[in-house]
Amino acid sequence: MKHEDLRARHGAVMPGWMPLYYEKPIGIERGEGFRVWDYEGNEYLDFFGGIVTAISGHAVPEITEAVKGQVDKVLHTSTLYLIENQIKLAEKLIERAPISGDKKIFFVGSGTEANEAALLFATRYRNSSEVIALRSSYHGRSFATMGITGQSQWSPTSRSGLDVSYAPNPYRLRCPFCKDEPRCNLQCADDLRAIVGEETTGHVAAYIAEPIQGVGGFIEAPPGYFERVKEILDETGILFICDEVQTGFGRTGSHFWGIEAFDVEPDLVVMAKGLGNGLAIGAVMGRAEVVESVSPNLHLSTFGGNPISSTGALANLNYILDNDLQGNAYTVGTYLKDRLLKMAEGHPVIGDVRGKGLMLALELVGPGREPDPAAANRFLEACRRRGLLVGKGGLKANTIRISPPLTITREAAEEAAGIMDEALAEIGAREG
Ligand code: PLP
Repeated sequence: MKHEDLRARHGAVMPGWMPLYYEKPIGIERGEGFRVWDYEGNEYLDFFGGIVTAISGHAVPEITEAVKGQVDKVLHTSTLYLIENQIKLAEKLIERAPISGDKKIFFVGSGTEANEAALLFATRYRNSSEVIALRSSYHGRSFATMGITGQSQWSPTSRSGLDVSYAPNPYRLRCPFCKDEPRCNLQCADDLRAIVGEETTGHVAAYIAEPIQGVGGFIEAPPGYFERVKEILDETGILFICDEVQTGFGRTGSHFWGIEAFDVEPDLVVMAKGLGNGLAIGAVMGRAEVVESVSPNLHLSTFGGNPISSTGALANLNYILDNDLQGNAYTVGTYLKDRLLKMAEGHPVIGDVRGKGLMLALELVGPGREPDPAAANRFLEACRRRGLLVGKGGLKANTIRISPPLTITREAAEEAAGIMDEALAEIGAREG
């Protein structure tokens, strides 16, 4: 009765367009590690990690205790005063910045706000309102960030105040340049030069990209992609904003930041989600010269880096580093990806297995490799009934996103893989 009651009350007071998973949406009451329980007491493996947020897992005592300690002192002061844990957090993040030279960091309350701030710094620094974003990108839901989100359902570009051009994303499965070639030839990166030359004034503020596109369906850039892009950016002085909202903090297994898999340095790095392990905090970190280029008092965020979220984020960052969660993401992620690749051999509905670390995806397709969003919905339902939560994404919402907390064990990965195998068999059987 509980969920039925909640669904009815939700429907009565909240907009019908809100995206809720499942034919009959569920509510999560509590979590522990990589497991969560709904309001009716059903247990699930959380393989979406909240929404790629719970990077260290749920109810981690080290993080909970730190937050509780801060709650007892003060909930909120103001960014007009100094906040010790915010400064400590800034120092730790700057130590690990994928950028050389002097750096500065500015805290906000979410990924959207962090991208807004990055756009503000870049457009002021370059004195240009032109931005290049990638197709299938996702950067948030404010006007400016929707404007640079390369998915038509969220892109009211004309209202963003930015002049946005979209470059092709490195999407091997559906790449207009190389999908029929034996290997990627990086033409999508080269195309950026034509875009700068033909679709912009040439004086562009920034190029923005996620090292692995998140909401777009965990689309991984091929080796060499960002190096080629950066050459083009450097020719024209265009800044590189790297959106690490989903890829940061060891999620990709091989590196702390997703972009570190490439031999390039961004000018600005945007982070949120895993930064607070679910607490509302985001930040933009970048070359000091760029961050400092705006006029005094130009920006302020009331809740940005507040004492609670800064304290929680600091404890979370310590937890990630002390427990080598990146290393675990690499080991368990490699195991799980192998398992998924083997699974794909027996299930033609899987058109692509991609991603790295604990950011893995299954793109579900029909007989002609066309996107199959209905299969993705059935898969999600079949997993939920068996006690596994995964995410969905992609332009056509046909990609399954697997992004559990980085603490998962090999046994949990195996358990989840077993459930996915059964779910695939079930949806395959129904397809007939
Ligand atoms: N950037 C990326 C890559 C994201 O995936 C998201 C959210 O999914 C955002 C920015 C926006 O973050 P938020 O929802 O915290 O505003």
